Amino acid sequence: AFNANVAAAQEALNAFIIATPEKAIEAAQATDAKRARGEALGKMGGVPIGMKDLFATFDVQTTAASHMLEGFKPQYESTVSQKLWDAGAGMLGKLNLDQFAMGSSNETSYFGNVISPWKRNDGGNAALAPGGSSGGSSSALAARLCPAATGTDTGGSIRQPAAFTGTTGIKPTYGRCSRWGVVAFASSLDQAGPMARSVQDCAIMLEAMAGFDAKDSTSLDLPVPNWEAALSGDMKGKKVGIPKEYRVDGLDEDVSKSWDDGIAWLKDAGAEIVEISLPHTKYALPTYYIIAPAEASSNLARYDGVRYGLRDLPDGANLQDMYAATRAAGFGPEVKRRILIGTYVLSAGFYDAYYTQAQKVRALIAQDFAKAFEQCDVILAPTAPSAAFGLGENVDDPLKMYLNDVFAVPASLAGLPAMSVPAGLNREGLPLGLQVIGKAFDEQGVLNAGLALE
Ligand code: GLN
Repeated sequence: AFNANVAAAQEALNAFIIATPEKAIEAAQATDAKRARGEALGKMGGVPIGMKDLFATFDVQTTAASHMLEGFKPQYESTVSQKLWDAGAGMLGKLNLDQFAMGSSNETSYFGNVISPWKRNDGGNAALAPGGSSGGSSSALAARLCPAATGTDTGGSIRQPAAFTGTTGIKPTYGRCSRWGVVAFASSLDQAGPMARSVQDCAIMLEAMAGFDAKDSTSLDLPVPNWEAALSGDMKGKKVGIPKEYRVDGLDEDVSKSWDDGIAWLKDAGAEIVEISLPHTKYALPTYYIIAPAEASSNLARYDGVRYGLRDLPDGANLQDMYAATRAAGFGPEVKRRILIGTYVLSAGFYDAYYTQAQKVRALIAQDFAKAFEQCDVILAPTAPSAAFGLGENVDDPLKMYLNDVFAVPASLAGLPAMSVPAGLNREGLPLGLQVIGKAFDEQGVLNAGLALE
């Protein structure tokens, strides 16, 4: 049934880059066989999932939604996807995303933008963005094409698309899920996580994805807790911090109201609400947009026309010409913009003024959180400053697009677990998300507060 739905919705939503119906069937059959033999089923036994096309999948095209990697079939499997298959999950297909995970609306994909299944309640038919970069994941979930999907979050790419589509997603603590076999964007920020339609499903899937991996030097060497078993929406004795700096001037009225609703729901669940301060919040966005492009420009140097994917070799070209032609043809405009920003801030003349400064501010942002968590157990904030915007609305203004990440990037820079849960609809009938940010390694606290909000 899921395979049929994926095929039927492809034209309208463009959520998948390729479908792999046989993989989903294989997992279902393997699970049936296990059941018949009376064997224990894995955590994800038989569950058909969507795989963001940033995860390398053995012999299955892995593109990062780029022309550069079009047709690339890895001869290895990412650790996270392997863990999911080991837990019994099956793959419905590879989900569309922003090219190399750079974007907030899925409009930078080489394979065309994804469309959200949501419509405004004005009777119109305007196509809305599913968020990004995990927009294929969020759109597919919202349209019920899959019960769960993988996402990756460098600066909000799990949380913001979840908020835009009324779905749920958690970015765990940096290092919880292995980055091995995930196409690298900004290595000090990249983190995989589950996207699903409930907090409980996210807890189950995160357990299957997480765990130490010797192949990732920043992997956390900690046991994976049984988050699902310890789920509880009882917030008695818990303190919830409300960061005053997130009450920015001109905050959307509906977003502000849903935040107040969330505060009330957590109070009802027994929590004590405390005001906290994260004084360096206003520097988070500029800091992120220095560090992420800097790391991206370095990571993307590997696409040289020799080792992976596309090679453009004009007649009579030398090596230098081949690099230039390949990269000119293989990268889209947003990726080129990030490479230019990144090489600029890392250049000898500007390194100290931009990159070194940004690293210092990043440390201050992490300190803000550490201090705030002396006063509270979790932090509650909006996920994004608005509900989903229309396709095409922000494409000509990168700064406006980047502003969408304003509430998401602080937790990314600090490496903290953060989750988005649905929090009602705005006056246009579109979903809004609330974000729970937790202490490092405290996914349980985040999931529990998420459950109390659900
Ligand atoms: N929207 C942010 C960006 O464009 C975050 C992307 C992500 O988390 N992968 O960089």
